[in-house]
Amino acid sequence: MHNQTQYKDLLKVLPHDDILQQCIHCGLCLAVCPTYDITKIERSSPRGRIAMIKSVARSETELSDRFAEEMNFCLDCLACETACPAGVQYGRMVETARVVVDEAGFGTSKIKRAVKRFSLRRFVASKNGLKFISRLLRFYQKAGLQKFVRATGILKIFSKNLTEIEALSPAISEKFSDKQIKEIELPEGEVKYKTAFHFGCLMNTMFADINIDTIDVLKECGCKIITPKDQVCCGSLMGHNGDLDFALKLARKNIDVFEKHEYDYLISNSAGCGAFMKDYAYLLEDDPLYADKAKRFAAKVKDITEFIFEQKPEMKFISEQTPESVTYHDACHLVHAQKVYSQPREVIKSLPGVKYTELEEASWCCGSAGIYNVVRYEDSLIQLKRKMNNIKNTNAKVVLTGNPGCMGQIKHGTKKFNVDVEVLHPVTLIKKLLKNNQK
Ligand code: SF4
Ligand code: SF4
Repeated sequence: MHNQTQYKDLLKVLPHDDILQQCIHCGLCLAVCPTYDITKIERSSPRGRIAMIKSVARSETELSDRFAEEMNFCLDCLACETACPAGVQYGRMVETARVVVDEAGFGTSKIKRAVKRFSLRRFVASKNGLKFISRLLRFYQKAGLQKFVRATGILKIFSKNLTEIEALSPAISEKFSDKQIKEIELPEGEVKYKTAFHFGCLMNTMFADINIDTIDVLKECGCKIITPKDQVCCGSLMGHNGDLDFALKLARKNIDVFEKHEYDYLISNSAGCGAFMKDYAYLLEDDPLYADKAKRFAAKVKDITEFIFEQKPEMKFISEQTPESVTYHDACHLVHAQKVYSQPREVIKSLPGVKYTELEEASWCCGSAGIYNVVRYEDSLIQLKRKMNNIKNTNAKVVLTGNPGCMGQIKHGTKKFNVDVEVLHPVTLIKKLLKNNQK
């Protein structure tokens, strides 16, 4: 039996009443909320969830499985923050609410919670753990096992969703990027910018080619790039899924690692990682040892498209281009969390041979949302279907997006909903068009 008084201390992590009061109940966020769009029920909306969190924080309502369900049904896409005229920082509210329900054991079984935590800590946050899993996956994909499993539908014996979730696994890169990128990379000519690079966890193992493309593009821009080998996962997946303490350990480690180096910009090519690293300043503001260091660290973080847009580095492109029709999907953690909207568009439109078409509802979540598409596959599919219809309507041959989760999800959507489009990271398109790439 759960008893509210036993969670008294736990509830203290919820935002204070003055923060929760910032919501003026205007309802402008409802139109952009993907979960409210499905249910049309107030409690599945940002305004409804804020009211629920406020009520629990004031001990007017008890923690419950229904409360946990609404917190976990939320995609944490932050579209409501962009729409909110009162500047309500909804994401911080729902993330702390998830910590509370996770710790208190609501909305999930103890076993499921333990498995989720173990998997995120041992296989995502640990570089070696993720490499181990990636090697297994690569073997599974290369040895013909994947074809066998898909052809026989054997996973359906266990669960229908398991078959679908298996289909989400991206093709694993042949080599991990941290083995290919030198700790210090230099451009061919003069050094114009001193940068550092966070190679991410999924980007390092499952999308390693994008990391290599990023280094090549940065070198073309005249960057010296420091990529510390002892950097760790940014912690975003843990932070967004109820394991904030562990995420903060990773944040402190990254701050210590990067502080040993001299650089002006810390480049990220993954929207989720970039957003979380920019948030270190807020997350560690009460830590007397790390508050100042976290502020300095966070101020240098830049998404690769943000860096290119702001610095306008000179790049040499191939002059003869076959025009290519391209569209762009906003990763939630780039557009809503980092407020990086026009920068990638301007960079893409400036590329030679690009015929750009704006995507309808470009900043509507694709359903990937961290591990949402794994733990809530059916719900995520509703968003994916909507996204794929919009992509299809552009008639674009290429869809660009700056987050590994979105790339994997949209690639899955191309097969699931039969949409003929190539899914690329913007930096990969830039690299393809570079003159240097043709040598
Ligand atoms: S984060 Fe996204 S899903 Fe959650 S309440 Fe806001 S708009 Fe809705
Ligand atoms: S838009 Fe902002 S202030 Fe208005 S209801 Fe939504 S969260 Fe509250």
